[in-house]
Amino acid sequence: MKRSSYLAKGCMVALASLFFVSVSAQEKEYPKPERMTPGMSEFWTPQPPIVTPGVDYTIAPPSDAIVLFDGTNLDAWQSSRGGGEAKWTIKDGAFTVTPRTGDIETKQHFNSFQLHIEWTAPTVVKGESQGRGNSGIFLQGMYEVQILDCYQNETYSNGQTGSIYKQTRPLANVMRKPGEWNVYDIIYNAPTFKEDGTYRTAPTVTVIHNGVVLQNHTTILGTTEYIGFPKVTPHGAGPIKLQDHGDLVNFRNIWIREL
Ligand code: MG
Repeated sequence: MKRSSYLAKGCMVALASLFFVSVSAQEKEYPKPERMTPGMSEFWTPQPPIVTPGVDYTIAPPSDAIVLFDGTNLDAWQSSRGGGEAKWTIKDGAFTVTPRTGDIETKQHFNSFQLHIEWTAPTVVKGESQGRGNSGIFLQGMYEVQILDCYQNETYSNGQTGSIYKQTRPLANVMRKPGEWNVYDIIYNAPTFKEDGTYRTAPTVTVIHNGVVLQNHTTILGTTEYIGFPKVTPHGAGPIKLQDHGDLVNFRNIWIREL
């Protein structure tokens, strides 16, 4: 080989290594993902319009309903901390969150259902935004329909009463005053999953609050995370779980119909 050929070959090798060095250097320079903070998934506008509910109502359980609470005992419920007794307090036909005893959940697991549940925000108003009258209903133990005292209490719209927490804001704010009974009727369709663990059909939910539609067959995107994006995790039937967020939220007249 001539000297010029050696030179040309040497140059090419040098250029090629420069190219690879610069590519790997570029790879090293990719920005790191930003650490998610709670505020990144909180949307304050638009705020749902305030709607004054009509007359107070309740619905007694129909003949084929599974009664989850009839005002007398928590036999259908257990602690979400590995089972055991549900330690919330029963009084006057209702039960109240006992702060720091943890979430409670139904012993029975469900797929698609119609759920009726009545609740009040604490009579003594304290705290603000998410710190006032916070609880929640986790559908299949996974997806939170928010309970919050949103009566004259501003917070991010996708965290208000009847939001799919940190996903979808409610269509209206129909809160009754603290201490007055609210009614939720929730129609939920459980998801199905592909082999790879993603949704074949995502879960959907309709939420009616005091007779007003807040969620209209809304697609649930995954778990309702405080920080970060919804996660899709394969699961089967799950419980109705109620959240202990440290506030004295009351519940009564809870029944469910499997669909
Ligand atoms: Mg909550």
